[in-house]
Amino acid sequence: MSPHVVPDNLPDRLQHYIGGAHVDSIDGDTFDVLDPVTNQPYLTAASGKVADVDAAVAAAREAFLHGPWPGMLPRERSRVLNRIADIVESRGQELAEMECFDTGLPITQALGQARRAAENFRFFADLIVAQHDDAFKVPGRQANYVNRKPIGVAGLITPWNTPFMLESWKLGPALATGNTVVLKPAEFTPLSASLWPGIFEEAGLPTGVFNIVHGFGEEGYAGDSLVKHPDVPLISFTGESRTGQIIFANAAPWLKGLSMELGGKSPAVVFADADLDAAIDATIFGVFSLNGERCTAGSRILVQRSIYDEFVERYSAQAKRVKVGYPHEKSTEVGALVHPEHVEKVLSYIEIGKTEARLTAGGGRPEGFPDGNFVAPTVFADVPPDARIFQEEIFGPVVAITPFDTDEQALALANNTTYGLAAYIWTNDLKRAHNVAQDVEAGMVWLNSNNVRDLRTPFGGVKASGLGHEGGYRSIDFYTEQQAVHINL
Ligand code: NAD
Repeated sequence: MSPHVVPDNLPDRLQHYIGGAHVDSIDGDTFDVLDPVTNQPYLTAASGKVADVDAAVAAAREAFLHGPWPGMLPRERSRVLNRIADIVESRGQELAEMECFDTGLPITQALGQARRAAENFRFFADLIVAQHDDAFKVPGRQANYVNRKPIGVAGLITPWNTPFMLESWKLGPALATGNTVVLKPAEFTPLSASLWPGIFEEAGLPTGVFNIVHGFGEEGYAGDSLVKHPDVPLISFTGESRTGQIIFANAAPWLKGLSMELGGKSPAVVFADADLDAAIDATIFGVFSLNGERCTAGSRILVQRSIYDEFVERYSAQAKRVKVGYPHEKSTEVGALVHPEHVEKVLSYIEIGKTEARLTAGGGRPEGFPDGNFVAPTVFADVPPDARIFQEEIFGPVVAITPFDTDEQALALANNTTYGLAAYIWTNDLKRAHNVAQDVEAGMVWLNSNNVRDLRTPFGGVKASGLGHEGGYRSIDFYTEQQAVHINL
């Protein structure tokens, strides 16, 4: 008997949620969603097209123009958001089980993501009440103040890695600021998004404020139709850099507000004076947690030459001990990758890596898992900077290790990529840590630290990793108009 566990409350079909009603696609079209452990279809989801997006945007626009949500006091909206957080928290186990089943994420990590989703709502519930706006006075001449207003229907387009948490990261601020929304979840992992309608209804969110259209992204399908809809003035997108470029071009005729959280190939720079035990633990976690399907993964490790051999040996040994297993098992550290297409991509990069560098751990499917989307934690050493596995985002449990000699070389290697999302620096030299942080081309830097962040800090990348930042008041700024009012005194 397979040790794979299937939650017993799974739906077998998903519909869109438009204007408070669960509906099929107008043309009846559906697509299959696969269980990542068996790759068998386990549900069909409605596949949205232009007409479905039109209906969802019309419902959201009606709720924006004539519903109570945009005009409610921040305090009132905050209460609804806090209730959402409470419900998400109380359903954390169920949510994590669904997410674990649908994405292949290890259950312990899915539980952490569920808690984070609740926290996102609580955070923006607090922030919107504490919000204050600028006022300026030229004594005896003029006064100036800012009216902050919700913008309208926000289009939210999300990827398949940690889907529920990333949806909450957009829904929290979009709703807190009084917008109405149409969410287009990723087609590989639509299951957990199906919990939102029930959660929002129970929390008392007015009808039409939240809408979902499931489906694909390409031209004529849900994602593309949302981007091109004239009544959607802003798009918050998280996904691949290439998709971001397409969305950027498609939104251009309407000059839409865009927030783009895109791909990464983030460096972890380990200097010889670092706490090596801590650096190894953190860089193992940094690329193998969340199955390596993490935008901020430290997927390139740059190591100072004098500790290079020891680092590679210890790191590779530890990578071999990372436990691959069924996603629902508590001891699992790397579960099943999301989809067979993605596994094929990751495995093809592993084959490329074998021709470009020295394989020191993993290198394909793990023993004991002939089927499903399992990939062994894989380590390549001596990776040259022009190698494809050094330059391109693999988005799986694969890491490239490269030596350097000087601080200048470390920086040049760290910045030698089109991406600029995150960087991790390991050194006990305080000056060096701050100077390298200053010069590294990354939206976020962690010094001697794992990937933890305060929700008030900016989140986002530079170069091909993104456009704009969210997090704290930056999210509030993105989802609101700031109208300046000037008065002559
Ligand atoms: P993707 O770009 O393939 O898809 C993301 C979403 O966009 C999906 O919902 C998809 O249906 C939709 N989409 C695709 N084409 C579209 C189009 N032309 N118009 C509108 N929508 C379209 O990304 P993915 O494979 O789902 O996710 C993995 C990527 O996301 C990785 O590159 C990862 O680094 C990135 N990511 C970034 C962050 C961040 O915060 N920077 C966070 C998580 C993931």
